[in-house]
Amino acid sequence: MKGESPEAKPMTSDDVLKHSTSDNIHPAFAYAARKFKALPSAPSRPEFGEAGAVASDNWNAVVEEYIADGHASDAQDIRVAAQVSADGGPRYRRCQSASCGNVEDAPGQYRVCGACKTTFYCSTACQTTAWKQGHKTACKHGATLQLLPSHETFMTVHKMMARMRYLGALSTASMLQEAWGNRS
Ligand SMILES: [Zn+2]
Ligand SMILES: [Zn+2]
Repeated sequence: MKGESPEAKPMTSDDVLKHSTSDNIHPAFAYAARKFKALPSAPSRPEFGEAGAVASDNWNAVVEEYIADGHASDAQDIRVAAQVSADGGPRYRRCQSASCGNVEDAPGQYRVCGACKTTFYCSTACQTTAWKQGHKTACKHGATLQLLPSHETFMTVHKMMARMRYLGALSTASMLQEAWGNRS
């Protein structure tokens, strides 16, 4: 451990998932994250530039695997909760009018705000409502692309862990674990 920087060992999806529950990260999302042995990409990362379509296709195929493995009755709910599109956002977008909560039946169904190109609505009515309720301001100041709730949690936990690791909390814990393991 001496001389090794705290970031020397890259964090894996397993590390992140250990600190999450099925309440905040959907089991299908966790399944795909484990299978990829890498962190799912966030929008604006280079992976979701040109390679985004390939990356999301691969990710979604793993989610289909999860569905085929005994979860067929919830297939569509699982796709909505865990599949991604080429830009890193959900494959099935949620309407972003605060009072709505509709989700696309098919990818690409909802209209996107023409100005920011990051905010999705199920109808003109929802778009008008959201505009009045504050999107007018958010739109101008750079609205961020919607993410799957699981993806958002994953990234939050990941950031928290990176910070903890930086502060030495995790290396202390793993050193203790190693010490105890060596005794048995
Ligand atoms: Zn709506
Ligand atoms: Zn907008």
